[in-house]
Amino acid sequence: MSRTELPKQLMPYIEGKTLLKLAFEHLEGLVEPQRRIVCAGRQGGSMGLSKSRFMAGWQCLKRLYLEVRQPELAGERDQQSLAVLEQGYEVGRWAQKAFPGGVLIEAGPEEMEKALKQTAQAVGDKQHPAIFEATFTHDNILARVDILERLPGNKWRLIEVKSSTSLKDYYLYDIAIQRFILEGLGMKVVPCLMHLNREYVYDGKRYELEKLFIIRDVTAETEALEQEVKDLIREEWKVLARTEPPDIGPGSHCTNPFTCEFYDVCNKRLPDDHVANLPGISPKKLEELASQGIESIGKIPQSFPLSERQRRA
Ligand code: SF4
Repeated sequence: MSRTELPKQLMPYIEGKTLLKLAFEHLEGLVEPQRRIVCAGRQGGSMGLSKSRFMAGWQCLKRLYLEVRQPELAGERDQQSLAVLEQGYEVGRWAQKAFPGGVLIEAGPEEMEKALKQTAQAVGDKQHPAIFEATFTHDNILARVDILERLPGNKWRLIEVKSSTSLKDYYLYDIAIQRFILEGLGMKVVPCLMHLNREYVYDGKRYELEKLFIIRDVTAETEALEQEVKDLIREEWKVLARTEPPDIGPGSHCTNPFTCEFYDVCNKRLPDDHVANLPGISPKKLEELASQGIESIGKIPQSFPLSERQRRA
């Protein structure tokens, strides 16, 4: 694998430093804030399921319903959310560079038929060692696979790319649904997660892609979720057949692992100085503050553990 130049978007965070750790902390800060709006895969007027909708339903079945049936109620993406998305795309593009010779399925989200056709052609063409954004559908569920690497023995490595530096539980569901679709189509797959390597030491000049990313085999973990995934798919189809949203009240699921784009629909508006507005505050800390009856930022005692950023807010 060749050494490659530093990604432009990372330059401002890395220049003058030898440890990428700092940059990754910045990336983690961008991709994991608790108070962000994430609009997972709006698919025009389609009523079908997709990987991103499956994940919306995994977080909350009401969120899935609203996303499909009443998407006009969703909050607007703010600048931070757009920056998060752009950062994710950038990491995805760099991950693709680790698979030279791979082919990108270029058909966009509104051209799924075309994407399916291009994918079928690429799968059949053995000169492509990898396919990026490979698109498949099974059981009326659509998924785009970040990287599909051709392996010997008619097998494929199914790789989900994440711009984080560790494995998060919900990633496994994201990969498990893709595995369900590809195996449902009769493909033999090795499901994997590819994420940034927190320990990678940057030499100040060029990235080494083989060290910048870690690829983990999550075959056993996703196998353990097989029945749960099937049950959830059934549940999600039932919800989508309803004429009104399921009766689900707000709770920690509204912000964990992502802040739901329908947050304002289900939650009363909080005052500006509410503790939930602290940047990057974790659900655990919010619970601790709530248990102490503290709602206002100004009432948080000095002894309460907050980050520098939160303390400045
Ligand atoms: S705001 Fe909460 S309850 Fe409402 S749809 Fe989103 S996750 Fe579900």
